[in-house]
Order: sequence, then structure tokens, then C-alpha cells
Amino acid sequence: MSTRPSHTASRRKFFRHAFASALLGAAGAYGLQASESETPLSKSSGPFSYRPVYKDPIKITKLETFKVKPRFLFLKVHTDQGIVGLGEPITEGRADTCATAVQEIAPYLVGKDPRRVMHHWQAIYRHAFYRGGPILTSALSGIEQALWDIKGKALGVPVYELLGGPTRDRIRVYAHARTPEAIKQARARGYTAFKTGVKNGRQSGVVANARFIEEATEAFAALREAVGKDADIGIDFHGAISPQNAALLIHALEPYQPYFIEEPVNCQNVDVMAELAKETHIPIATGERIFTKWGFREILEKGAASILQPDLCHAGGIFEGRIIAGMAEAYYAAIAPHNPLGPISLASGLQLAASIPNFLCQEQVTLGEGYLKEPFEVEDGHIPLPTKPGLGIELDEEALADKLGHDWRNPETYLESDGSVVDW
Ligand SMILES: [Mg+2]
Repeated sequence: MSTRPSHTASRRKFFRHAFASALLGAAGAYGLQASESETPLSKSSGPFSYRPVYKDPIKITKLETFKVKPRFLFLKVHTDQGIVGLGEPITEGRADTCATAVQEIAPYLVGKDPRRVMHHWQAIYRHAFYRGGPILTSALSGIEQALWDIKGKALGVPVYELLGGPTRDRIRVYAHARTPEAIKQARARGYTAFKTGVKNGRQSGVVANARFIEEATEAFAALREAVGKDADIGIDFHGAISPQNAALLIHALEPYQPYFIEEPVNCQNVDVMAELAKETHIPIATGERIFTKWGFREILEKGAASILQPDLCHAGGIFEGRIIAGMAEAYYAAIAPHNPLGPISLASGLQLAASIPNFLCQEQVTLGEGYLKEPFEVEDGHIPLPTKPGLGIELDEEALADKLGHDWRNPETYLESDGSVVDW
């Protein structure tokens, strides 16, 4: 009998113990320990029987949602350690539906440790069997934000520290402005990037007349005139314009160099958007109605947009945004998180922006005044890097008291000339 097998076995044993020690050492630094005995691999039938658990367990006790004016849905994930995670699990206009979706997910989460964020994301997404869609993915997104908030607070670090650390010193944000007066006022408040809509866009019909194209272009030109060439002004077609009109309008806007053209058409037919993208040198942006990495894959592969706008309350949450950003990086595409929602959505976007290399600009409609104890502040077009643990925000419960509840509904829009339904 050769001595070779026992030599090999002893070498295997040595490396197995060395590996186990290294694993325990690293785990100890993060508050992890083996779930089994002091030598986690010794009782194993294979290396995959190692199961880390947290030294100081945290358990989710309750998921609480509440509607907040004008159209938000806030989520608090409560734990037995007193740490509360915040999220915004909402599809606009479907607050009650999303709140129900969250409560249907709650039995899975209650009693579990909130810090296994990716594991819970996978379980909630895949065990649903019917995957994705605006309601389920928005509910998951808000929950995911809250789990990151808890994890960051438990470790005493901002979420971006858990995503690789900051990639920038401050985060550019843009403001909405539709008139020269409004854009000048936003400029005076410190913004340097803006977004507008298309004048009378929803009434443009299938093929607009020359007057529509002229007036829509003049409205954009007036904004450019008001803030000059140093400012960046995106324009949102809102997917509400026909492909025929989008082609005409993009061409007419080109001399005024929009920052980007957002949703030039609806994104249900990616090939149509890709055709428009190929016909202009102005960057095409899209993403607010696209969900998860699987949704954004086709956009990138077909070259339909070079600026992706995942909404972190719809697309799958903060880490799904990080994955989408990584996919975009491989196509030299940038990330401009969509956000027409509340301060928790903004805080989530800032954490993503702080940790990715290909960030462009963050949308916002509120800096948190009347919602947060310490609202965000804009200086020279940027918000400073957040420094507090988790999402870095704290709700101002007193200020929120008069904003609880709403009955916000999606607008009903019709073509004035014949009463037929148009997009809004
Ligand atoms: Mg939009």
C-alpha cells in the first residue's frame, strides 16, 4: 500500500482547517459565526455544509406600510433589535395594491434575519413563480431598500460602503422645469441640470402638424436661452408621442442639444426605440417602466438607449440597480436613476449613485422638506455624499402627521379633437 493517499489526505486536512480558520477569522470581523461547532467543516459531508449565521441575530417582526401625500407609500420594516428599515414599495397610482403585495410577502420575512438581502431578494422574486411586473417588483424594491437600510444601520455604515465604497465626492441631481421662469428659479436654488416635457405632447396625435413641432421646439429653445449653454436640459417625451412624431421632434431639437431624450416612445417595442436612437446623436434615455436586469438586457443589446433610468422603487431595488449599472458599463451606457417619488426613493438613488462608476444624474421631486428630520441640500447642482448609516435618513414623524393618507389617481387623458384615449 502506498503512503501517497494518507499524505494527500493529511494535506487536504491541513488546507481544510486553514480554510476554515480563514473563513472564521473573516466572518468574525463582520459579526458572523459558524452555525455548527467550533470547526464548521469538521462535521461536514462536504464544504457546502458551512452555513454562516449572525452572532447577534436580528429578526424581522413586522412590515408596516402607510400612504403619504401626495402619492407615496412608505414602508417600515421593524426588527426585534429596534432597528427600523425604510423603503418605498410603490407603483404610482396603485398604493393600496402595493401595500397588499407587501403584506402578502410579510409572512416569508417575519422571523428572518433582514441582513441576508440578496437571499431574500431571490426568494421573494423567484418563489413568486409569476415573476416581475410593476406591482410585485415595486413591492420587492421597497422591501429591498428597507433591508439595506437595516443592514447599514446594524453595521454603522452607509449602504454605499457595502457596495464597494464611494466612487465620487458628491452627487449631481436635476430639477423639473417647464417654463423659463421656473428654470431660472431652479437655477437660483443651485441646480445646474434640469428636465422638461414636450409642450402639448399628449395632443400631438399620430402625425403632428408643423405648428406642433415648431411650438414644442420653441418651448425647449426658450429654456436653453434662459439658462445658457452651461446648463444641461433633458426632455421627457414620456412615451406619449407616436414614433412618427418622435422622429420629427428629435430632429428639430438637435440644434439645442438636449441633455437626453427620455422615453421618445413607449418601451414595449424596443426595436422602435432602437431605430430612433440610431437616427440621432442626442443620447436616448429610458428605464422608468423597465424592471430588473432582465428588462434592461434587451435595451442594451439593441442599443435602444445609452442612458438607463432604473427606478429603484420599481426596478428591483438598490442592488438590482447596481447590477443594471454593471451591465450598462459594459455598453458604455450611463445611469440616471428615475425618481418622481419621495425622500426614501431619493436616498436609495443617492446610495447607488455614490457607488457606481457610470452615474450621470439623479432625478428628484423633493429633497425631503416636511418628510425628513434633515432634508437633503443642493449646492452647485450636487448633494453632498451622505454619511449616516443605512440610507442615511430619518423620518420626521411630526411633520408627516398631516400628510398621512391620500387617494391619488392616474390622470385620465383624451385627445381633444376626438375624445380617444392618449397616454399621459
Ligand atoms: Mg419619464
